[in-house]
Amino acid sequence: MRIDCLTLFPQMLQSVLEESIIGRAVKNEILDIRYTNIRDFAENKHNRIDDSPYGGGMGMVMQAEPIYRAFCEVTKDASAKPRVIYLSPQGRVFNQAIAKELSTEEHLVFLCGHYEGVDERVLEALEVEELSIGDYVLTGGEIAAMAVIDAVARLVPGVLPSEEAYSEESLYNGLLEYPQYTRPPVFMGKEVPEVLLSGHHEKIEKWRREQSILRTLKKRPELLLEAELTEAEYDWVESLMKEDNDGFN
Ligand code: SAM
Repeated sequence: MRIDCLTLFPQMLQSVLEESIIGRAVKNEILDIRYTNIRDFAENKHNRIDDSPYGGGMGMVMQAEPIYRAFCEVTKDASAKPRVIYLSPQGRVFNQAIAKELSTEEHLVFLCGHYEGVDERVLEALEVEELSIGDYVLTGGEIAAMAVIDAVARLVPGVLPSEEAYSEESLYNGLLEYPQYTRPPVFMGKEVPEVLLSGHHEKIEKWRREQSILRTLKKRPELLLEAELTEAEYDWVESLMKEDNDGFN
């Protein structure tokens, strides 16, 4: 997968995305992540890429032209127009389903805004999709882009050792992951659940599935509305909820 980041702070992204698992995938040429400084596409003496907003008001707005030129440069050899993601607090809120969907693309362009944002006309010209990482406002799109790229990139085949590494994780199948334990077997008097030491694969799977459902019910019950459960599991959840309600009466 190729990923282009259009930003005023390429080093911010680079320093994070060149580390650890994503960095290794770049070295192994599974991911091709490129960083383009929008400022390099300014065509004025002081490399300015922002100006004050028409109509007045606080702050500065990133100008359309340098962004457009940067986009044309990174796509000049592309056979088709890639999906362009503009990180924005006004966008669709990013989640695992969107990560899964984006991970199947061959080429993505991420546009990071700064200051008061970006001239609307370039967003229209590039037909951007807006993605938010939550209902709060950051100073720039870089941190949001890193979060989205990290979540997308680890789903690209070959980035993690096997599909199992992410397909059992929280939210991939609509449920939260079961609790995890490692050595030592006893910590501050607390023992690892016995079933995990049994070596009985089927029992371990069953326990993990139950724990997953229980955790989701406890921490994020709304997720169960969309999760893929068997009929028996639905009945079990219903009985648990009934028990819980009866507890209050
Ligand atoms: N004036 C803009 C508004 O009210 O919608 C906010 C601009 S914000 C200070 C600067 C940049 O940070 C935005 O252009 C966007 O790229 C990024 N940003 C801020 N919050 C974000 C969020 N929750 N998710 C994704 N990007 C965000």
